[in-house]
Amino acid sequence: MGNETPEDKGHAALDSAWETALAQLDEAAELMGLAPGVHEILRAPKRSLSVSVPFRLDDGSTKVCQGYRVHHNVTRGPAKGGIRYHQSVDLDEVKALAMWMTWKSAIAGIPFGGAKGGVAVDPKVLSRGELERMTRRYASEILPLIGPERDIPAPDMNTNEEIMAWIMDTYSINQGYSVPGVVTGKPVAIGGSKGRGGATSRGVMYMIFSTLKALGKGIDEVSVAIQGYGKVGGFAAQLLHDAGCRVVAVSDVEGGLYRERGLDPEAINRHKREAGAVAGFPGAEPISNSDLLEVDCDVLVPAAIEGVITVKNADKVKAEIVCEAANGPVTFEADKILGERGIFVVPDILANAGGVTVSYFEWVQDIQAYFWSEEEVNDRLRQIMERSFHEVYSLASEKELTMRQAAHWIGVGRVAEAHLTRGLFP
Ligand code: NAD
Repeated sequence: MGNETPEDKGHAALDSAWETALAQLDEAAELMGLAPGVHEILRAPKRSLSVSVPFRLDDGSTKVCQGYRVHHNVTRGPAKGGIRYHQSVDLDEVKALAMWMTWKSAIAGIPFGGAKGGVAVDPKVLSRGELERMTRRYASEILPLIGPERDIPAPDMNTNEEIMAWIMDTYSINQGYSVPGVVTGKPVAIGGSKGRGGATSRGVMYMIFSTLKALGKGIDEVSVAIQGYGKVGGFAAQLLHDAGCRVVAVSDVEGGLYRERGLDPEAINRHKREAGAVAGFPGAEPISNSDLLEVDCDVLVPAAIEGVITVKNADKVKAEIVCEAANGPVTFEADKILGERGIFVVPDILANAGGVTVSYFEWVQDIQAYFWSEEEVNDRLRQIMERSFHEVYSLASEKELTMRQAAHWIGVGRVAEAHLTRGLFP
C-alpha cells in the first residue's frame, strides 16, 4: 500500500478501511490545496506498535494473540482512541481507525491527536478470567505508549468499562499510584464521567436532529433503521424511540428485525438479555444484516463495523439520510454512489464524535479531580455536536462539497495548521 495514491492504483476497489481512509485524505488534500509536505506527513501514522499478547487460559494452556496500538498524529495533543477486540483486527484496520480519530478530534475542536488499538481475538470465546488476563497483558505490552499526557485509550467494539478499569489498574499498579486519566469510558467509581456510556449514541441523535432541521424535516414519525445493536446502536435506538422516531429495523451480528409500525427498544433489550441476540424477538419480521441496509426508511444508522455499504449495495440504500455511527461503514466508491443519488451522509468523523467528546470531558474531570453533573455533560456535548454540524454544513454549502469532504477539509485543515504553526523538527 505504502505511499501509492488511489490514482496510482487505477482506482481499484478501495474496500479496506485503510484504503478508504487514505482515499478520503487524498481527496480532501486536493480539494483544499494542502501543502504536499504536510499531506505526506498525514498519510503515514506517527508510530505503530505491534505486540504479542500471551496469556493463560483456564485449562492451564497458553494462548498468544496479536495486539496493536497506533498513534496516527499527536500534533494537537495526546493521542486518543479506542481499543477493539475482534478476530478481524489487523494493523491496517487500526491505522485507519487511528487516522479517523485524528480528524474527529480536530473537527470537534478537542485538543487530542488520533490513536487506536486492538487485539485480534474473538472475546466471546474467552471466560471473564481469560479476558482479564489478556487485557492486563495487552495493557502491559502497550505501556510504553499510553499515559494521561501521551495516549488515552477508551472502549470500542467488544470492549467496555470493566476492561477500561483493568487497564487503568494495570497502568496504576506499574506507576505505584492511581492514574484515572490514563483511560476514559471507565466506571464512575474510579473516575469515569457521568454520561460517557451513552455519549456516542446521544451524539448520533443530536446529529440526526441537526440534519433533519437543516433539511427542513420534523423529528416525529421519522423512520430509522439501525445496524449493530451494541453499546452505540442499542442506546441510539432507545434515545431515538424516546424522542418520537419510529425505529423500524435493528440488527446485531446474528441477524435483524423489521417492523413497519416500529420496534420497542426496551422490549428488545429484555429479549436480548435472555436470548443473547435480537433475533427471535416476537412480533417482528426476521431480516438479514444486508436486508437491513436496504430497508425503506428515512434514516439509516450503520452502527457495527466498517465496509458494509459498498459498490455492491450502495444503489439499493433507500434511506434519505445515512448517519454513520460506526467508523468507516461506507467505502470510498460507495460514498460517491450515495452522493450521486442525493443521499445525505453524515460522516463518521462528525457523527460519532460524541464518544471522544465526553472522553475529553472525562479526562478533564480526572485531571482536575472535579466532577460534573450528567446534565452538564450532556449539555456541553450537545453544544459541541451542534457547533460541529453547523461548521461542516456551512462549509459544505459554501463550497458545494459533501458533508464528508467538508468534515475532512475542517479536520485535516486544523491538523495541518498545527503542523505548520509548530514547524518541522529539526
Ligand atoms: P459493540 O461491540 O458494543 O457493538 C457492536 C455491535 O455490532 C454488536 O451488536 C454486534 O453484534 C454488531 N456486529 C458485529 N459485527 C457485525 C456484523 N458483521 N454485521 C452486523 N452487526 C455486527 O461496539 P460499539 O462500541 O457499539 O461500536 C460500534 C461501532 O461504533 C464501531 O464501528 C465503533 O468503532 C464505533 N464507535 C464506537 C464508539 C464508542 O464509544 N463505543 C465511539 C465512536 C465510534
